[in-house]
Amino acid sequence: MKVQLLDLDAQYRPIMSDIRHEMDKVLSSHQYILGPAVKDFEKQMQEYLQVKHAIGCANGTDALVLALKALEIKEGDEVITTPFSFFATASCIYRVGAKPIFVDINEKTFNINPDLIEKSITKNTKAIIVVHLFGQAAEMDKIMAIAKKHNLYVIEDNAQGIGCKYDGQYAGGIGDIGTLSFFPSKNLGCMGDGGMCLTQSDDLGAKLRQLRTHGENPKYFHKWVGLNSRLDTLQAAVLSVKLRHLQTWSEARRANAAKYYELLKEVKDIKLPYIHPKAESIYNQFTIVTEKRDELMKELQSKEIGCAIYYPLPLHLQECFAYLGYKEGDCPNSERLAKQVLSIPIYSELPEEQIRFVADTIINFYNK
Ligand SMILES: *Cc1c(COP(=O)(O)O)cnc(C)c1O
Repeated sequence: MKVQLLDLDAQYRPIMSDIRHEMDKVLSSHQYILGPAVKDFEKQMQEYLQVKHAIGCANGTDALVLALKALEIKEGDEVITTPFSFFATASCIYRVGAKPIFVDINEKTFNINPDLIEKSITKNTKAIIVVHLFGQAAEMDKIMAIAKKHNLYVIEDNAQGIGCKYDGQYAGGIGDIGTLSFFPSKNLGCMGDGGMCLTQSDDLGAKLRQLRTHGENPKYFHKWVGLNSRLDTLQAAVLSVKLRHLQTWSEARRANAAKYYELLKEVKDIKLPYIHPKAESIYNQFTIVTEKRDELMKELQSKEIGCAIYYPLPLHLQECFAYLGYKEGDCPNSERLAKQVLSIPIYSELPEEQIRFVADTIINFYNK
């Protein structure tokens, strides 16, 4: 039985005519750059995530660069972040000329360990970028308290956690700026690239809007050097249609996760995702931990079950960051988990019989 890691066609088919209808409206409006569909979608996101300002941009990576620029992080500054994330979480710091400082993760949640942050703070530290990895909110209460105590900004890289909450509050709207990605494999994905910044601050909201169009205001007058980074109007139209279904999709992912927890609970050799009592997950990934990761991966692949390693090499050990001087052993949890994690299919439309097949395959592997 073939099981895909993600089946975008299963998501597209039921909403195909709605999407085409909205795209058609954009095509015949000829308002392709920051057209009305962008404004409408931004407003819908403000309502959905209970945030004052939502500013669409070209992708999730740019959203992070825009956030750092809005907070005026620059050369000489240090930004603390996690080494266990997608590359963009750290490359954005490099892009504004600042220095990434990596703090290891909590081995259970995969998110930055707040208890390790303070000893990495120096007089140059300006901000912390937290990631809500695999869809689970990081420990925002502890992180916000540390930031307040040391007068640091907090950016939430929420590319994987749209709609998840921490202690009842939507992730992305807790720190100074939150960022989203609408890359097709995210829980809310468009049909190309797209991203967004979120903020509760009127000042930062206005600044982010300005920065995404070259920092200009009024037109042709530039107070800052910004980016050319706008959410495409066609993508905004697609996203508006998909947003109507996001809550249902997230619940379906949670229901799929519940099935795995039940089916796999007896397997002693794997750790199932741990969710912190104050956090929620929208399960962008369902990531298990096992010492026999490579063998299990081979077994799943031989049965045509999609699976993937997020991520095989932590960011502090990437070649492009060698100049920072990190070495093996500096972030032991991230390094060990990079060798032990495996993400298995969890997407909303995943049929129950396929979930059972994946679980049975894993159970049989460990019973061999
Ligand atoms: C996907 C992702 C990004 C980048 O998003 P793009 O839209 O692909 O630029 C940033 N951070 C994390 C954690 C991601 O998963």
